[in-house]
Amino acid sequence: MSSFACGVSREPFDAIVVGNGFAGVMGALSLTRQAALRGVSLRVALVGPEGNQFFTPGLYEAIESDDPALACISFSARLPRSITFIEGKGRVHALPSASSGCWEVKVESHVFSPRTLRSPHVLLATGALRGRTESLSPLASWHDWQRLREGLRAAGRVSVVGGGVSGVELAASLACALPSARITLRERRDSLLTGAPSALKHVCRLALERMGIECVLGQSGDVPEADVALDATGPWNDISRLENLLGPAFAPLLAKGAFDPETFCLRVTPTLQVPLEEGLWALGDLAQFPDAAPSAQAAVQLAHQWAASVLRVRAGAQPFPARVLDLGIVVRLGPRQAAGVVRIPGRGAHVLTGVAAQAAKAAVRVKYLAELALAGRGFF
Ligand SMILES: Cc1cc2nc3c(=O)[nH]c(=O)nc-3n(C[C@H](O)[C@H](O)[C@H](O)COP(=O)(O)OP(=O)(O)OC[C@H]3O[C@@H](n4cnc5c(N)ncnc54)[C@H](O)[C@@H]3O)c2cc1C
Repeated sequence: MSSFACGVSREPFDAIVVGNGFAGVMGALSLTRQAALRGVSLRVALVGPEGNQFFTPGLYEAIESDDPALACISFSARLPRSITFIEGKGRVHALPSASSGCWEVKVESHVFSPRTLRSPHVLLATGALRGRTESLSPLASWHDWQRLREGLRAAGRVSVVGGGVSGVELAASLACALPSARITLRERRDSLLTGAPSALKHVCRLALERMGIECVLGQSGDVPEADVALDATGPWNDISRLENLLGPAFAPLLAKGAFDPETFCLRVTPTLQVPLEEGLWALGDLAQFPDAAPSAQAAVQLAHQWAASVLRVRAGAQPFPARVLDLGIVVRLGPRQAAGVVRIPGRGAHVLTGVAAQAAKAAVRVKYLAELALAGRGFF
């Protein structure tokens, strides 16, 4: 269906992407690139609160260097012309009507008065919509990080809560950057890096302890006193922020049991659709895709497949079920160490340490940046 089937809309688009993180930027870029390869020209709206992408894995640079701008990619001025970047916060405003078949998204911004966008396809890619936690500082946005910087420099005791990849990497970076601070890593399960092979867990635990990081395992509940406590507990959504994002779609989705009861992540179908009306899709940390851990790795892979599915639906075909190829994990343990597991299809998993692991981590980062550069053509 063409966007212009939407009637007398002020701002019709072929697709609207809400969220400017890995999932949203890669989704918008991949959609316009794949369409161009088929000779189709699309108008895509990309909605985000600012024209910078907070490159979360780039947090290390922000922690370890004095130039926090290294963790941020400025993209809005360099997008291809087929993508209109709209600065503001988007939310679902109206479900598709029988006559138009279009979703409406309202964008509110401090720069302009509210705008209403219309499209048959809306991708929700807002990342995790965390609410306030009593004692934990969130790390969900560039502003969160900026607010924290000075506090961290003055901190004597820092707690990192959550012992997954993000928590382990954060704790290691902090231990290197703040040698006089006491760093504690807290995980409610009995081991760090749930789901990773035990050899990798062991190597990481030893490395953290050698850095002087105290690992407290198997304890949940209140975070004990610390000058700063950082939230690395993984994606979860605050129910009232979800309600605001989903607008009239919230109640029917709740009635359908579309939210994970523990994290309130939106359960999407194998074809990445939100189980409601057609044309509403979700990706990245906001959503829960079967058998995929929330990561930039998964978000980028799924964004390409989402783009292919939208083009199929526009052509009257069924979307393909998406899948995530687990290539492994490489855990960065400060600027000079890393450990990881690389999975080679048909040849099993291999544990990497030392220079090989550091090279693998650097390669992952270059891969992300190159993908953005290639998809955006002159992105940097
Ligand atoms: C410390 C740390 C280290 C990590 N390291 C790795 C790693 O090495 N490898 C890896 O694969 N993954 C890593 N991750 C995980 C990875 O960063 C996330 O899985 C990934 O960023 C999710 O992408 P996303 O686009 O869904 O969400 P985000 O990157 O969070 O982006 C969402 C964007 O949407 C915007 N937004 C929110 N609400 C709205 C709205 N209403 N309208 C418009 N825009 C909105 C937000 O401001 C944000 O910019 C790490 C995470 C952390 C915290």
